[in-house]
Amino acid sequence: MTEPGRPRIIALANQKGGVGKTTTAINLGTALAAIGERVLIVDLDPQGNASTGLGIDRRDRNCSTYDVLAGEAPLRDAVVPTAVPRLHIAASTMDLSGLELELGHTRDRAFRLRDAIAVLNKDVDPPLDYTYVLIDCPPSLNLLTVNAMAASDAILVPLQCEFFALEGLSQLLQTVEQVRSTLNPELTIHGIVLTMFDSRNNLSSQVVADVRQFMGKKVYDTMIPRNVRISEAPSYGKPVLVYDLKCVGSEAYLKLATEVIQRERELRTTH
Ligand code: ADP
Ligand code: MG
Repeated sequence: MTEPGRPRIIALANQKGGVGKTTTAINLGTALAAIGERVLIVDLDPQGNASTGLGIDRRDRNCSTYDVLAGEAPLRDAVVPTAVPRLHIAASTMDLSGLELELGHTRDRAFRLRDAIAVLNKDVDPPLDYTYVLIDCPPSLNLLTVNAMAASDAILVPLQCEFFALEGLSQLLQTVEQVRSTLNPELTIHGIVLTMFDSRNNLSSQVVADVRQFMGKKVYDTMIPRNVRISEAPSYGKPVLVYDLKCVGSEAYLKLATEVIQRERELRTTH
């Protein structure tokens, strides 16, 4: 159960690229903030797409998640506000791609992020009282993703509605299992969100049926449709909910946010 004052920490993970991790981090984060949650996105991908998509200029990333994981700065120093009220981000830079080598075999190398989040609220006035921390993972099961899994309460897996959707999922679930047995016994799968769903495409519907059969209740009812407004928004440095609140993409992410909160309530009452 979540202690009062401690945020729920959810990692968006899938070792495949282009499945909607970053889009979901940005837009689920925005939707949660829009309905009153206080949200921090931690950009853990060296590509920094979540940071760019939220309008954070590269020149303004003096302190980044690299500095935090390298042990050179506290997480709060990397946090910047976004244009969305109640939504903050710790931005990333390309340096992050060298971190695995730099950390070598240091004993706490998998716990850098967990430990940074643990002291996020300490000694700051006013306190940074986030209710959600969303971690945007890189497209790989590397040390960065392992740091995210070791720091998280749960994993949210975006799965693209395409032919190879399920390929790689078992490897991801295996990694979650390994992290659970060695680094973080509390880790659970929050849910699987189907992304880029195209109702005019029979294959898309077949993939949905397969994933729902294979993963059952773990799959959220909400599906994110393929929507051009979603793909346009990042080039304006805006979440889709700010770019075009009325489009089907925005509607879907708002629905996903309410489902995530609902699932949180259920998790709390069953634990
Ligand atoms: P990942 O972080 O998993 O690599 P992204 O979130 O960056 O994936 O998405 C990959 C590409 O697909 C991006 O160009 C993004 O704008 C686009 N995209 C993501 N979700 C949608 C959607 N629902 N509809 C249309 N385009 C999307
Ligand atoms: Mg990404």
